[in-house]
Amino acid sequence: MPIRPANYEDGWTLAGTVVRRGIGLHTGESSEVHLLPSQKAGFHVSWLDESTDPITLEPSHVRGSSLCTTLQLGSRKLATVEHLLAALGGCGLSHVDIKVSGQEVPLLDGSALNWIEAIDDVGLVPASSPRKRLLEIEHPLTCSRGNSVIAVTPAKTFTLVAVIDFPQKAIGHQIFSIELTPDRFVKEIAPARTFGFVDQVEQLRASGLIKGATLDNALVCNGEGWINPPLRFPDEPVRHKLLDLIGDLALVGFPQAQVLVYKGSHQLHTDLAVALFNSSF
Ligand SMILES: [Zn+2]
Repeated sequence: MPIRPANYEDGWTLAGTVVRRGIGLHTGESSEVHLLPSQKAGFHVSWLDESTDPITLEPSHVRGSSLCTTLQLGSRKLATVEHLLAALGGCGLSHVDIKVSGQEVPLLDGSALNWIEAIDDVGLVPASSPRKRLLEIEHPLTCSRGNSVIAVTPAKTFTLVAVIDFPQKAIGHQIFSIELTPDRFVKEIAPARTFGFVDQVEQLRASGLIKGATLDNALVCNGEGWINPPLRFPDEPVRHKLLDLIGDLALVGFPQAQVLVYKGSHQLHTDLAVALFNSSF
């Protein structure tokens, strides 16, 4: 059983370097990610195929995030970072150097599980400097887009509640709440895979998106059911929504707060991350 931090209070980094290679969901191209120990707080991205200074991630790097979270890092973009960032932040890491080739983080199995396995290959060790301080929320904060809402209220712990409501019978109304710890993240959230709909696949492909999607890296819903069961949890879709939220919040660090999200999206999550980031100075 790998050693994990009990909570998100102290600074933790990797005990060694891990490498994963795979196909990007949208580009369909192969890319490589190296995760390395760092003694500097934060997640710092640099390129394997270009020599530039590492860039410490923050919400102002987020661009055009309808289907995934894309970062603008200097003159280059890096797409689909959310599952990797969820794995790093969720399992308790706070100090990591990320080196990437190409323009998209590999999707692997569509969840954060393969990233957790990669991290567990080397293990976690305490970092020599503290993590960036946890954000303390003094007043409730709300962001909305259309009928989607995200609200943060002060709390003693980091608690997440997600609600989704889809017309498709296979998904329908799902609610999931969790008081997050690194162990609970790994068991309850990390294995939940991304999902999509049969009737949207052609449309997205025609727009040049999801070139790397296969039945091995995304759950596909046909309305009544799933064309590639079994599910890992009966409520896997809502758990995946929390995985995406955790990845987007990992850009700022986790607030000591309760976060409630209704019909979340990457844009909405990022709105909140920006609001938290701005309120922390
Ligand atoms: Zn996702």
